[in-house]
Amino acid sequence: MREFHIYNTITRKKEKFESVNPGMAGIYVCGPTVYGDAHLGHARPGVTYDILVRLLRKLGYKVRYVRNITDVGHLENDSDTGEDKIAKKARLEQLEPMEIVQHYTLRYHEAMKLLNTLPPDIEPRASGHIIEQISLVENILKKGFAYISNGSVYFDVHKYNNSHKYGLLSGRSLDDMISNTRDLDGQDDKKSSFDFALWKKASPEHIMKWPSPWSEGFPGWHLECSAMSAKYLGDLFDIHGGGMDLLFPHHECELAQNTASRGNGGVKYWMHNNMITINGQKMGKSLGNFITLEELFTGSHKILEQPYSPMTIRFFILQAHYRSTLDFSNEALQAAEKGLKRLILAGQDLAKLKSSSLGERIENLHSLKESVYEALCDDLNTPIAIAQLFEAVRIVNTVKEKGGLLHPDDIDILSELLQDVVGNILGLVDEKALSSNGNILSGVIELILDMRREAKLNKDFGTSDLIRQKLTDLGVQIKDTKEGTEWNLN
Ligand code: ZN
Repeated sequence: MREFHIYNTITRKKEKFESVNPGMAGIYVCGPTVYGDAHLGHARPGVTYDILVRLLRKLGYKVRYVRNITDVGHLENDSDTGEDKIAKKARLEQLEPMEIVQHYTLRYHEAMKLLNTLPPDIEPRASGHIIEQISLVENILKKGFAYISNGSVYFDVHKYNNSHKYGLLSGRSLDDMISNTRDLDGQDDKKSSFDFALWKKASPEHIMKWPSPWSEGFPGWHLECSAMSAKYLGDLFDIHGGGMDLLFPHHECELAQNTASRGNGGVKYWMHNNMITINGQKMGKSLGNFITLEELFTGSHKILEQPYSPMTIRFFILQAHYRSTLDFSNEALQAAEKGLKRLILAGQDLAKLKSSSLGERIENLHSLKESVYEALCDDLNTPIAIAQLFEAVRIVNTVKEKGGLLHPDDIDILSELLQDVVGNILGLVDEKALSSNGNILSGVIELILDMRREAKLNKDFGTSDLIRQKLTDLGVQIKDTKEGTEWNLN
């Protein structure tokens, strides 16, 4: 098995990946809170952890990929006060909270599917794991790292910090945090403003609440990920991923909960993808640059000059390393659109090139292939891998222009790069083939175009023009070129 190196947020360096169970890899990723449409901020973790899963499977690991749906207990104000975002939306729209959850979960799945991300193997919902969360709170109470106050249960950060270090992930120290913060009002139940809720007693108007030994209430946001990751991946598992915005307090609190309850941090490698900016600015509703994925795919946001296809977005995300920030601009996306087209086209052209054992061998092709895998195995260095793949594109284009022959062994390596790596690891596919029943649709259109070609050869121009017109009416644009007929869906 090839070695994979992964940057570990906790040690702040790249480490050789050694899974807890040989040959297996357990991955937990913090999924969306489903109270609104999937937006650009969801695309990056979606694509990043998809590449991780695809690559580890390619390397031979049996991967279990768990990504949760947060459908309860995600509060506006960090973790402790205010109204649950889903409950708030439900109240505003006069719907059951679970209607909101169902609606936006389906929308999220659709967007992720368009981005060609593989579904997780397990997609647990917080509301389906209340029992596990209550038993985790009981465990932390028993270990002495939590206290009950007015029907709520809080994690005792100071006490935890005396025997363990709070702040390992974020690199913050509790003493620094204390000296930089003023005490907040309205948090009387807590001994310290740094303590966070494990269980919150619900106010009478609160809709989503469950019975517990302490009160009728709901779990704190950080609790679900500790409970569900342990349930499906075990007390110690390999990779915990999420966006950098979740590092503090969410993952820091998860780590503290894990350590307090089971004595270990629960996770071998913490992995964080960096954020997306738009024209250099952070994305935010107040800045008017908050873009949903649907707006991006349809071009219906005022800052977009055109629609950008899901594959263009996917390719654009992969052109940057996941730990770097990524800036969206029309210019950058248009460049990505062109680059992607060249990459996909080269894979298709390769299939049409003539093979012969008399063909000239291409130098250094094997080392080109190795460099692609080395880049991917070096903490998912997709920008370097893509740059190397364009070397393969250049080779294919040169052979095509010269009308030369390719040696079958070289065709094998080029296909592995331009079809297998591009399609199966990077997950970049021809979008015409990705649309639902796309393969059949492509096949049918090609068949009709063959019939039109036949008609033209027989000088039956009436039929060939009629086919063209009918296809155009159906939204299939066709263009006759020297190489043949190209088509596009409108
Ligand atoms: Zn989480």
